[in-house]
Amino acid sequence: MPLTSGSPRILLKQLRQTLAEPLGSQERLDKIVDVIALNMGANVCSFYVLRDDSELELFATHGLKREAIHVTTLRLGEGLVGIIGADAKMRNLDDVTKHPSFAYRPETGEDRFNAFLGVPVLRAGQMLGVLVVQNSEKRIYTEDETEAMLTSATILAEMLSTSEFESLIKPGSDIDLRRSRTIEGVGFSQGIAIGQVVLHDPRVVVTNFVADDIDFELERLNRALRSMRMSIDDILNRSDMQISSTHRDILESYRMFAHDRGWEKRIQEAIKGGLTAEAGVERVQNDTRARMLRQSDVYIRERLHDLDDLANRLLRTLTDNSASLGLVELPQNAIIISRTMGPAELLEYDKSKLSAIVLEEGATTAHVAIVARSLGIVAVGQADSIASLCENGDNIIVDGNEGVVHLRPNADVEATYIEKLELTTQKLARYASLKDRPAITKDDHRIELLHNSGLVVDMQALEETGANGVGLFRTELQFMIASKLPPLKEQVELYSKAIEIAQEKEITFRLLDIGGDKVVPYMRSAAEENPAMGWRSLRLALDRPGLLRTQIRALLQAAKGRTLKILVPMVSETVEFKLVRAVIEKECLRQTRLGLELPSLIKIGAMIEVPSLLFELDILLPEVDFISIGSNDLVQFLTASDRANPRVANNYDPIALPRLRAFKHIVDAAKKHDIELTMCGELAGQPLEALALMAIGMNRLSMGPSSIGPIKELILALDLDPIAKQVLDILSNGATDITIRELLTNHIESQNLPI
Ligand code: PEP
Ligand code: MG
Repeated sequence: MPLTSGSPRILLKQLRQTLAEPLGSQERLDKIVDVIALNMGANVCSFYVLRDDSELELFATHGLKREAIHVTTLRLGEGLVGIIGADAKMRNLDDVTKHPSFAYRPETGEDRFNAFLGVPVLRAGQMLGVLVVQNSEKRIYTEDETEAMLTSATILAEMLSTSEFESLIKPGSDIDLRRSRTIEGVGFSQGIAIGQVVLHDPRVVVTNFVADDIDFELERLNRALRSMRMSIDDILNRSDMQISSTHRDILESYRMFAHDRGWEKRIQEAIKGGLTAEAGVERVQNDTRARMLRQSDVYIRERLHDLDDLANRLLRTLTDNSASLGLVELPQNAIIISRTMGPAELLEYDKSKLSAIVLEEGATTAHVAIVARSLGIVAVGQADSIASLCENGDNIIVDGNEGVVHLRPNADVEATYIEKLELTTQKLARYASLKDRPAITKDDHRIELLHNSGLVVDMQALEETGANGVGLFRTELQFMIASKLPPLKEQVELYSKAIEIAQEKEITFRLLDIGGDKVVPYMRSAAEENPAMGWRSLRLALDRPGLLRTQIRALLQAAKGRTLKILVPMVSETVEFKLVRAVIEKECLRQTRLGLELPSLIKIGAMIEVPSLLFELDILLPEVDFISIGSNDLVQFLTASDRANPRVANNYDPIALPRLRAFKHIVDAAKKHDIELTMCGELAGQPLEALALMAIGMNRLSMGPSSIGPIKELILALDLDPIAKQVLDILSNGATDITIRELLTNHIESQNLPI
């Protein structure tokens, strides 16, 4: 007969004793299922463990035939146990034999039983196994009993994740959470990195599972919830708090979940079952994670992620682990793992120790990816569930070339990558040997190769790559990493330093391009439906003339006595460009009035990244000194596909005919007006795409520093005219059964070009 109320707690106490006894692994498991069965008055208690071949293997049983242990297996989805293993949902049935999925296993003798209660054994949302009790009579298990089972499952999950059970695992069938995994994502920044996991948002490790005093634990939960709710409310209510709309949205959704009674009640139930407050939070978090892993609806997944983040917050409050919220001391070869990350957060890490980042989300043209490339940090994005699969200190290999991550790699994979890394080193040495050679094709077309940059640290690469200069200095990066608006003096310092490092090489400073996904945390802006098309960049600068004036002043001062190139971003109409030029002219007059030295020459250019400009190039070009194509934004707007949204960012080929024709239209206009044209979007740094751009007549390409070597190597091996002719033919004649990409791929292969 089942014990009455209080049995979950008694069970937990008994389990704790069993855990402390000096027993062998199998003995301990046998004892655990005995304890559960006796405590619950069940005829059967069985524990199945999920192997990596998707079979659930019977590891221990009370009540079924002992011969079945390590013999009986069920496929995921097969029988009720298999179904629980597949969907991670508990089942409580009064007569299992009537269930359509009942799978009979003669070796176990289980047909004598009717009542069935099966619960998933989860850790960090991942399925580890299934725990089952059965009774011969027909009955539904009580709430207390299901609670006791869920609690036992939490304990078993913890045990399984230790090394104690390794001896029970047959060679070749790897069951534990620590197994090697390969996760396919998308390469954001090229290169290979071998290192150790550092979780950007580290999980709190719960070590104390069993409560000594339930009331005390409930009170702890209560206090922690109160303090967490108050801190969220505080941040949201502080009128002086300059938080961005994205940050506010996240906090709003945290607040909603923090007050969710259902969530609180589930944690309380877990504690009443005998767990400590933190173990209770973790158990409920496990269920959330399991749902998250199963969920394909993006919106619901997002909300579950919020709930997961909130559980982490609560765990930190409970364990007073707030110190871990700050940035940790990085090990050498640190590889940061995170669900998402803004560029400013990435920049906060010590670059000398950081070798890669892996994100669950993001897109190639998102700014965090751009910053990773400009810092030469290997990056992979869209690596599904990576943050919940790894622990701090895990070995990891990040392959930014293939967009693959190998977590806890086995020795073979590691050896292969060590070899690959050596090859990469050789490649880098090859690129380094090209650094002083001008980028001239075999048929004598000279291409200017320039860097995209934005910080002092990435300016240093100019010397290493031998690039002709900086084609795009993203001045907003300084604003994004600062905790407050950088004053004039700091801006002058940065620009002067950049000019000093560039020496005689050219450098083009782009005016502030904030907004969209470039969040400046201390500048509050109203929530926008479409931030990429909202109050950003030049629009913001024109509305905040003080900001614009200060930056122009800083640039004029930093570039005194030499050429200053200023690039205006996100120009939508020529008139906007003229407004900026007027501000620059006014600032020059002011400098002169104050007796300050001016740059020897000032060139002002416009970025072509808003499609409407394509239809007034004849009006714009006479006004400008140079232009630069921002293909990241231009393609985003031409194809109406958000560059930061991984679902759509890569849906359309940027060098397909419509886009290439748009680029060619700009090339022709620049030629007609004899205006210098540079391509500074990410396309310029990708060899095949760069080939398409050169084919249509672009000869100034600005890219992340790590792309200079590969692109130069391609240029040096290239006869441009023949392939340019073919591309231009397709462009003017239209219909063809081969895409530009296919044409170039074939050409690269047939000519054996180094890509
Ligand atoms: C672009 O849009 O292509 C560009 C170079 O600017 P950013 O990526 O900084 O928006
Ligand atoms: Mg842009």
